[in-house]
Amino acid sequence: MRRFLCLLALYALPASAQPNVLLFVADGLRPGVVNEKTAPTLAAFSARGVRFANSHSLFPTFTTANAAALATGHFAGDHGDFSNTIFVGKPIFLPNFGPTVTPFLESDRVLGDVDANFDGNYLNEETILQAARQKGFATAAIGKLGPTLIQDHLARDGQTIVIDDSTGHSGPDEDAGVALPAEIQKKLEEKGLGVAKPRAMPNVAQQADFVRAATEVVLPWFKQRGQTFVMVFWSRDPDGTQHAQTDSLEKLVPGINGPTSLAAIRNADDNFAALLAALKTQGLDADTDVIVTSDHGFSTISKESATSWAATQSFDKVAAGQLTPGFVALDLAHALALPIFDPDKGNAPVKPGATPSRGNGLLGDDPADPEIVVAGNGGSDLIYLPKAKDPAAANALARKIALILSAQDYVSGIFASDDLGPVPGALKFSEIGLKGAAVTPVPALVVNFRSFSTGCDDPTACGVQVADTSLRQGQGMHGSFSRADTRNVMAAAGPSFRSAHVDLAPASNADIGMTIARLLDLDIRHKGGLVGRVLTEAMPNGAEPDFTRGAVSSTPDALGHVTILSFQQVGPTRYFDAAGYPGRTLGLPATLQ
Ligand SMILES: [Zn+2]
Repeated sequence: MRRFLCLLALYALPASAQPNVLLFVADGLRPGVVNEKTAPTLAAFSARGVRFANSHSLFPTFTTANAAALATGHFAGDHGDFSNTIFVGKPIFLPNFGPTVTPFLESDRVLGDVDANFDGNYLNEETILQAARQKGFATAAIGKLGPTLIQDHLARDGQTIVIDDSTGHSGPDEDAGVALPAEIQKKLEEKGLGVAKPRAMPNVAQQADFVRAATEVVLPWFKQRGQTFVMVFWSRDPDGTQHAQTDSLEKLVPGINGPTSLAAIRNADDNFAALLAALKTQGLDADTDVIVTSDHGFSTISKESATSWAATQSFDKVAAGQLTPGFVALDLAHALALPIFDPDKGNAPVKPGATPSRGNGLLGDDPADPEIVVAGNGGSDLIYLPKAKDPAAANALARKIALILSAQDYVSGIFASDDLGPVPGALKFSEIGLKGAAVTPVPALVVNFRSFSTGCDDPTACGVQVADTSLRQGQGMHGSFSRADTRNVMAAAGPSFRSAHVDLAPASNADIGMTIARLLDLDIRHKGGLVGRVLTEAMPNGAEPDFTRGAVSSTPDALGHVTILSFQQVGPTRYFDAAGYPGRTLGLPATLQ
């Protein structure tokens, strides 16, 4: 009888009783650094609601790839946002650089142009905010340039309130923000929030303005309208500060665990506290589900290599013997004896002693029709073969590139597009959710870089990785298949979630997208099938799902290198823990079980 009543109570919920949703993203926050001292609000929130102890960022562990997963519930194989910098086939204007085929996606202007190039929607999937506003909910995305607009990148007319670094900026070489509803624009200006402040380290002033916009303008507006709302708040900290900090230049310790990074973690925590307080003040807290995630973890940068040709050359602003920005492009050009051009400098040749300006390279005789494109990103890079039309030629070139990279001590694992056919030493994209319905150009190869820990209690809190970046050794990066980068922070609390619960089942950023869609009862027509799962176990009466652990390995290449992936699985959904060459990736077992 009791069970019957329970069921009745469930079914008796009115269909329109959707909660509000606030998604707070602390960019680049590692779970190992969240405690009562460093981030008291996040620590208390996780203890009060559901803490996802087995959480996952999606590889490549970059911001826009995971922003797209949160926005759509899909893996990168479907949404096609493979990393922050991707090859888009034809030049797109990148503010401060000019036209480039390898744009950085964290730009409102670039996102608009990329959309225009791919039938009006480069993600090829509907986003949750888009579906929510089409259902009549109020929607807003506030915070860091790029991932904020990605949440509803097709609404550039104020249908979704988008407030980011570009809000109020419109100079000729600037990134212009998108339109805001007139009433919101007026209220922001009244409070002196109409023009976003420049970034800083820690990013206190800019984020304080975003918080004020959210708490003093947008939430009261939602409250007044009485609509169900969805708000995404994307905190640039601790990411921006962990990247740029110089607490131990050239040294790996403390690296991203120094005082500057800790101040940025606290800044994000303070922002989160202010948002929770505003929900309470507005009387919205009881009806609002709050979900916290980080797009990816973080690692300290190593620039060491004993095998790289580029590291033996001398470059301006690069310490002698260290890896230079663009080392993958430079090493490949050298090994294949191909000319190299800089896509971010009007396709100018990369002269001896110079580095590609953003780490990207066009290899071949004609930069307008390159044989190889390297998109430099950080803890992993993307390699495209746009000219190879013939599958046999593409396979031969991919094998050649894979073998050159496999000989480098900075590499830990190579992934190859299934379309290439067998590439020894490389795992197929379909093993890691990169083969799907994407409409952007699909890379031929993804190369992952070496990672290790400096030896703290929780190795994911003190990871180190080789990174293709203009940042220096001792600064911070992410993007690799290290568990320090795939392990993110995830928690949830509110009327739809259990209290004081630790969820041990694997969970990912794609799951958060699917879970929000379920909370809001959205009707989304999915094009691709690479989706996350709804985290029902986090909801009252939800059963913890069974999950398994597994590993898969590639065939060996001529040097004996094997790429191994360690994963977990719930039903058909895979969770990627770590991958690479045994002994060269943090969190990857040294041998296959
Ligand atoms: Zn970052």
